[in-house]
Amino acid sequence: MYSYVGNIHLHSRYSDGEGTVQEIAQAAEMAALDFIIITDHYNLKARADEGFYGHLLVLAGMEINDEENHYLALDISEIVNNGPAQEVINAVNRQQGIGIIAHPDEKGSPLYDQHRSYKWNDWSVQGFQGIEVWNFLSQFKDEVTGILKGLYLLFFPQAALKGPCKETVARLDNYQRNNHRVFAFGGSDAHGIKIKLGPVTVVTISPYDFCCQCINTHIISEKKMTGEKENDQQIIYDALRQGRFWIGMDYYKSSRGFKFTIQAAEKTWWMGDTVPWQKGLHTEINTPQPARVKLVRDGRIIGESRGRVHRFPVNDRGVYRVEAYYRHLCGDRWWIFSNPLWVI
Ligand SMILES: [Zn+2]
Ligand SMILES: [Zn+2]
Repeated sequence: MYSYVGNIHLHSRYSDGEGTVQEIAQAAEMAALDFIIITDHYNLKARADEGFYGHLLVLAGMEINDEENHYLALDISEIVNNGPAQEVINAVNRQQGIGIIAHPDEKGSPLYDQHRSYKWNDWSVQGFQGIEVWNFLSQFKDEVTGILKGLYLLFFPQAALKGPCKETVARLDNYQRNNHRVFAFGGSDAHGIKIKLGPVTVVTISPYDFCCQCINTHIISEKKMTGEKENDQQIIYDALRQGRFWIGMDYYKSSRGFKFTIQAAEKTWWMGDTVPWQKGLHTEINTPQPARVKLVRDGRIIGESRGRVHRFPVNDRGVYRVEAYYRHLCGDRWWIFSNPLWVI
């Protein structure tokens, strides 16, 4: 399996971001990413800028939203207009796109944007492919609970990154437990908003270079990228469709090299796969550095392990995913959130 790392859900000057696609690509290249997906509000203008920037592949989707109900649409070629949530989802599906409910449980901050929060308010909807369980900008806003903390986080935004949103993860677990093939996405929501004093930029909110080092999307594929756009974008979108990816908080330690499989004597299944239950199944989980790994079945932690190699028996049917943390001074730090395998 080949593995590639990217960052998705970024805004450019084509909507409310401050950077051009070229500037964002430069930041992503500096972060050694393989791909990014720009998702401007209401438009697909960045599609004209798709292509390789050095080794980095830039792709573009869009974010469709009203005040609430933000929905990311990837791998589409025509603009989807805003409307009732289910109609938006259906319109993305008609183009065989990948639709993701973005930052659904955002709370907002009294000190940021007049306490606006861009939640998802219609859970009767069906047919979406993903839920964004970890969004940098949402978490940053939610953490700005006072003036001092806000000032601190402006200069040390990494301190806001506490892990995927618990409420959203509970929703996701519930969908997956009920056999919905809905996957966990992580997004930057980078806008690169510059706060200026006269001509001088004092600080930037959700800077592109920083965001490209944080909540990354690591895909796995049997196919190798070739540097040819059509081929490589297919590899990326196929992996996102099939759930063959994990979310890595790579700022302190890169999660490149992580692996989560379920194995039988002569067969290996990967994230997104459905495994026919049989005797002798076990997990094979590798972390690139020593880590504390939790194995979650049907939303409940059923095993914990420390080290680099983590083996658990798979004794029951259910949906299995992995969380990984590593030690730092003040305890464990969130690192990896995998997509699941279904054992049926
Ligand atoms: Zn949004
Ligand atoms: Zn956004």
